Amino acid sequence: MTLTQHGLGDLTWPDIPDKPMVIVPVGSTEQHGPHLPLDTDTVIATAVTAAVADAVSLRTRERVLVAPAISYGSSGEHQSFAGTASIGFVALRFLVVELVRSLSAWAGRVVLINAHGGNVAALAAAVRQLRAENRDVAWLPCVTDGGDLHAGRMETSLMLHLLPDTVKAERAVAGDIRSLADILPDLKAHGVRAVSPTGVLGDPAGASAAEGQRSLELMVEDALLRISQGAADVHGMLAVHERATERMPA
Ligand SMILES: [Zn+2]
Repeated sequence: MTLTQHGLGDLTWPDIPDKPMVIVPVGSTEQHGPHLPLDTDTVIATAVTAAVADAVSLRTRERVLVAPAISYGSSGEHQSFAGTASIGFVALRFLVVELVRSLSAWAGRVVLINAHGGNVAALAAAVRQLRAENRDVAWLPCVTDGGDLHAGRMETSLMLHLLPDTVKAERAVAGDIRSLADILPDLKAHGVRAVSPTGVLGDPAGASAAEGQRSLELMVEDALLRISQGAADVHGMLAVHERATERMPA
């Protein structure tokens, strides 16, 4: 099965099955260091969504539709870097609310798959509101075990696997490699540039397509587990309780 077989944008209205599951990738357009493209998060969210849609379709024998990605997110922390195109918390929240209200008029379950940490607050607020309206919607993050924060080894590996021609490997440099907990106060107060002049949080050294493929597989496995066995928590996020450490790319 290919992505286009599931793409909502490729269908006509009579093609839409009765109450299909619809999955919406949620990404961003923001700086990803000097070596990765601005749409890195959108590419990752779309790739995870496509693989998840294939797997759920095969398992359930029902067609799962992939909506066009939300490719603008809440990226204020990256605003001091050229290229960043952020719509912020309020706009993203209402975009998700209105989008899901519209999808809910004909869809069954709606799942949003998010690949940008900065979107979490807006997504959670929107999905909480939508669930209070009794809509069948939840979201989940693209997570894997370990990995660094932003434009480091994990995201570079994922892009080497997904779209290698877009990676400018010769420009890859190490950024701030401290944990999120350590840099968060500075990050919140002054943005990413205050902690990393290149915009990288982590170290792309050692990144490879093979590692990216493995990370993608882990993200897809995790997403499938959440969709098949998870329950929405108070933030509307599908959660599976056995999971220990989690890390999502920013
Ligand atoms: Zn990212």
